[in-house]
Amino acid sequence: MTTTNSAIPVTRFAPSPSGHLHVGGARTALFSWAFAKGREGKFLIRIEDTDQKRSSDAASVGFLRDLEWLGIRWDEGPEFTAPDGTRVGGGPHGPYFQSERLSLYNRYCQQLIDAGKAYESWDTPEELDALRKDATARKEAFRYRCRGETTAADRARFLAEGRQSVVRFRSGFEAVTIHDEVLGEATLPAGEVDDFVIRKKDGFPTYHFAVVVDDELMGVTHILRAQEHFTNTAKHILLQDALGFRRPVYGHLSIIKNPDDSKMSKRDKDKVLRKAVKERGLTAPPADSVSLVEWASWIGDENVQLSLEGAIALAQALKVTLPEINVDDFRRSGYLPEVLCNFLALNGWSPGGDVEKFDNAFLLQRFGLDRVMKTPAKFDRLKLLAFNTDAITGMPPEVFAKRCHEHARQFRPEFLAKLGDAKFALLMTACQERSKTLDDPFRSTAFLLTEDAALEFSDDKNVRKALGIGTPSADGGKSGLDHLRAMRVILGTVGDWSQPTLEAVATAYANEQAGGKIGAVAQPLRIGVSGSTVSPPIWDTLVLVGKSSALPRLDRCIAWAAATAGQ
Ligand code: GLU
Repeated sequence: MTTTNSAIPVTRFAPSPSGHLHVGGARTALFSWAFAKGREGKFLIRIEDTDQKRSSDAASVGFLRDLEWLGIRWDEGPEFTAPDGTRVGGGPHGPYFQSERLSLYNRYCQQLIDAGKAYESWDTPEELDALRKDATARKEAFRYRCRGETTAADRARFLAEGRQSVVRFRSGFEAVTIHDEVLGEATLPAGEVDDFVIRKKDGFPTYHFAVVVDDELMGVTHILRAQEHFTNTAKHILLQDALGFRRPVYGHLSIIKNPDDSKMSKRDKDKVLRKAVKERGLTAPPADSVSLVEWASWIGDENVQLSLEGAIALAQALKVTLPEINVDDFRRSGYLPEVLCNFLALNGWSPGGDVEKFDNAFLLQRFGLDRVMKTPAKFDRLKLLAFNTDAITGMPPEVFAKRCHEHARQFRPEFLAKLGDAKFALLMTACQERSKTLDDPFRSTAFLLTEDAALEFSDDKNVRKALGIGTPSADGGKSGLDHLRAMRVILGTVGDWSQPTLEAVATAYANEQAGGKIGAVAQPLRIGVSGSTVSPPIWDTLVLVGKSSALPRLDRCIAWAAATAGQ
């Protein structure tokens, strides 16, 4: 065996393209990238799409987009045009999609067959099942071993019977020692690895075979990947030795867990939705959420997961927040990629000392396998939110506005269409101070998009109190509703609908009619134009809504409050 410990590292991230990029995968990519780029090495991406049923092009594109968004750029790999127009990818070791490399795998597979280190195996599923049952009856783990040589006559017979063959690796009976830079050393006793399949019936290589061939051909020196692959490494080492390949350095990374110790999984979203559905006793999907067909299969089986679109639509209808699991979820929720990278790096690695906040440039300089943790990291969402809040409140206003604009282009286009440039800019200045995410300015301002005639007034305790519904003022003075009626008349006469004028007019009124308490006037106005007691600062809110919408909204609010109060 030769170990690849060349001075210039080459690392890779090799996702299987199904679903979305999980934060655990993103962290593997981040560490692999930082390790190579911090040592003037190369980082490459390879798409492991040999499982034809589970892989999809859309998933591959999604993975690349998410990595690029995180600032993880690859020196070699699938070609991709970043949103800024930069072309990423390509390279001398392509193609970088395993499904396009079948001839290479076949060549090495044949090499093993010719050397007697691999063989065709023709078992039917029923025969394999019987072998498995035998092993169970003997209270042994099932490990497939060669069942005798296949002659040319056997082969002809099997083909005539319509059997299909797989190719299996002759594993032998050696103990295999794995050196792992994170976990240390472990030895798998002789005989543990069976004659595993390296080429499937459909002619595609298995993961084990493709990964070994590609890592060699692509010159990969260091493999960082999830801990779930640790035992697979024994198979990979046996294959490397059989093929005369170099042995990369391995580092297996712990999983990321929820604070309650459960695995951070996409099922967490379904859990939240199932709980909400149960609490509300729903027996049919709410309007405009999931289709009846999707609902029926989901509600009938705890193991079924909703599609991402279905989960988002149902969460919106039920007014629940889904936990973010995938990189795209965090992006949609308005987290900053640099904050997410910082936080992910801390989940499994520590720079030492008290340093907690850092950027990717720092990570490149400092990242090493010696400080990667062996034990699972716990994903503390509140801490992530605090990091994000700090980054957002510390941003120059023009940067915040630009980044919110990018966010809105992707996830909130309706705000861009409705507000236009000037009002969008005002929404940003009005919201930055209180925003924890890039999405916050839009979360609390859905009322800006609502048709005036469709605005609903929230009949809650705060609204009732502010308008004096059901609670006449103690001193017999004016109620919020009285102020609203008076202000509606005054505002009808205001020509210059700007914050200073609106504030001056309302302050003058409050001084005269509300004992100088501007809040007693502002809060009813807020309810009148937004429907609730939460909105950006009131004068900004009035400008954002605009005079032509504000007046009919106030009229509707007055009518609603009067009817509700029975006045
Ligand atoms: N395609 C494998 C996965 O997504 C990669 C494993 C590896 O890095 O070798 O888990």
